[in-house]
Amino acid sequence: MAAPAEVNQFIPLCVPEIRGREWELVKSCLDTGWVSSVGEYVDDFERHLGRAAGVPYAVATSCGTAALHTALLVAGVQREDEVLVSGLTFIAPANAIRYAGAWPVFIDADPLYWQMDPQRATDFLERGCQWSRGELRNRATGRRVRAILPVHILGHPVDMKPLLDAADKFGLVVIEDATESLGAAYDGRPVGGIGTIGCFSFNGNKLITTGGGGMLVTREETMALRARYLTTQAKDDPIEYVHQSVGYNYRLTNLQAAMGIAQIEQLQVFLSAKHAIADRYSAGLGSVPGITLPSEARNCRSAWWMYTVLIDPGRFGQTSRQLLRRLADSGIQTRPLWQPLHRSAAHKGAFACGGEVADRLHETALSLPCSVGLNGEQQDRVISCIRNLHLRSSA
Ligand SMILES: *Cc1c(COP(=O)(O)O)cnc(C)c1O
Repeated sequence: MAAPAEVNQFIPLCVPEIRGREWELVKSCLDTGWVSSVGEYVDDFERHLGRAAGVPYAVATSCGTAALHTALLVAGVQREDEVLVSGLTFIAPANAIRYAGAWPVFIDADPLYWQMDPQRATDFLERGCQWSRGELRNRATGRRVRAILPVHILGHPVDMKPLLDAADKFGLVVIEDATESLGAAYDGRPVGGIGTIGCFSFNGNKLITTGGGGMLVTREETMALRARYLTTQAKDDPIEYVHQSVGYNYRLTNLQAAMGIAQIEQLQVFLSAKHAIADRYSAGLGSVPGITLPSEARNCRSAWWMYTVLIDPGRFGQTSRQLLRRLADSGIQTRPLWQPLHRSAAHKGAFACGGEVADRLHETALSLPCSVGLNGEQQDRVISCIRNLHLRSSA
């Protein structure tokens, strides 16, 4: 039997893995004085990300939310425009839409993969909108619809093909929020490089981290140049302080980029670890009544950033929140999904297409510990805790 101290050792949901050249590269910034927003590591990190997304241009930013805000601006989204966005996601992309003065239209999740439902999105564009004076407008609000912002949540890609077709047909820009899905692929193409612009985040809980940071990637040179301009306070002259636009201080520092390079060097190792974690959970929990495992679409490769299951209280014997509390009592940290955005007070009054699926997922989903460094024993402890809790509640 294991020692009590081991039994109760805390297992966090998802923490960074720092076991590469982080110390070495960050130290070299400190040793040379290249600590701020200019430096070779920023350029290198941008090249790495561009390559990972399969696109020629990448602009580093201070965080993923800043990348999203900048993406909306360079895509030409204007005040009072509307942007279709996933209704079940972390709130950042919806906030970024508001920073641009535009309005989110929340598209419900699909019940299988939990991503923006392309059927709902196209139904809205086909039936909920109309052409007026050469512009596509939401019939209900009268606002111009300008862009689609699919969010690849939890590591799994959104079904992009129907969205790209609709964007083509209606003249919309597609901005991918790939912040949770670096390393995932759709039809063999890396996410982030499929739409007009893609955004990444290197926050502490993401697959790779710089402490905080983000990146905008694109094939469009003019958009990349505009993004670089806006994220560096829109400076029009390298020497004189002359500005023709209101810019932002959205730059990433060389210190952060140094860490980013050390992290992205381990991307494949991290992805394999996430995949192995997903496989072990699926094998360990697949037969537990009342637990639905996450699935991977046939034409997709998930990055398995988060491993999330659905709990049917009738068959499992407890609700997802009861299970969360019992696991917390055993030192195991888990987390529900985000409040669906059509219910968020922060975005009251925004237009929504559906929301019932997001509501159901919000009620039943629970994300399990999935740090890259999670070892087999820790994972087996999570699995046996869940199995035991099911047995106890069915006894
Ligand atoms: C993490 C995250 C972001 C933005 O991240 P930052 O913390 O601003 O770097 C944006 N969208 C989603 C879906 C996220 O999970």
